[in-house]
Amino acid sequence: MNGKRGEGARQASGDLRAVLVRSSSKILFRFLPVLLLALLSAGCSHREPFHPYPRYRRTHGLPKPSKVIIQKVAYFDAPKTIHHEVGPGESLWQVSRMYGVSIASICRENGLRPGQALHSGQIVLIRGVRSIRYVINLYRVRPWSYIIVHHTATDDGDATTIQWAHLARGFWNGLGYDFVIDNGTMGKGDGVIEMSPRWLRQEDGAHCKADDMNQRGIGIALVGNFDCEKPTRYQMASLAYLIFILRHYYHIPPSHIMGHGQVPGARTDCPGKLFPMRFLRWAAER
Ligand SMILES: [Zn+2]
Repeated sequence: MNGKRGEGARQASGDLRAVLVRSSSKILFRFLPVLLLALLSAGCSHREPFHPYPRYRRTHGLPKPSKVIIQKVAYFDAPKTIHHEVGPGESLWQVSRMYGVSIASICRENGLRPGQALHSGQIVLIRGVRSIRYVINLYRVRPWSYIIVHHTATDDGDATTIQWAHLARGFWNGLGYDFVIDNGTMGKGDGVIEMSPRWLRQEDGAHCKADDMNQRGIGIALVGNFDCEKPTRYQMASLAYLIFILRHYYHIPPSHIMGHGQVPGARTDCPGKLFPMRFLRWAAER
């Protein structure tokens, strides 16, 4: 009895195993298409997004500017001694050109070595300032064809604070604009033009997704909330100058110079209700 029962039990367990194998293979076949689809779509999500515009791929170091504009700014006060707060991506060379002093003298005053990298937020003592100048690098790396103007929608700020804010918002590459025009807060001069690390690396922007403007538009942000106040006249003078330089260098037509809210598909009031759009038209055509 025992033996038979044991045999019966073995047979039952064998049957059960066969049933289980059959049902699991049935389940597998039934869900195979779903499984394959899931695997394929997982593969798709890791694929590089399609970019219709040529992308600059950095091989080593920073791209070399094909031209550097160094322009003395008449309305900037130039005290003989300045404590300069280094912006993101700024180099010793750039700071030396901004104030018309030698790299050697900056190194001497601050105990630095020539070629030493500066870091954002570092305070550098500049003695013997000759004048304050715009320093604008121009590159023949990408075919920039639009200029998009923004406001930061904050009362104060500079490239360093916006860099931190954008990193906190999840922009893994930091500051999303190409240029920032300061409004005299955070210790920066009113109307100072700061180049962003994205511009120095000639990377895609992170300022206007609509109409692929991150790939083909140069993003300029003026610090301020122009829903509540107007930009300062020094900011506007610097904006006009920057647009003039970029527009002529990249042959950008006036109709391609616009506020963020004018970009087709962009749902925003940026650069704010009080931003003088007529001025932008004038700046785009001169
Ligand atoms: Zn904007």
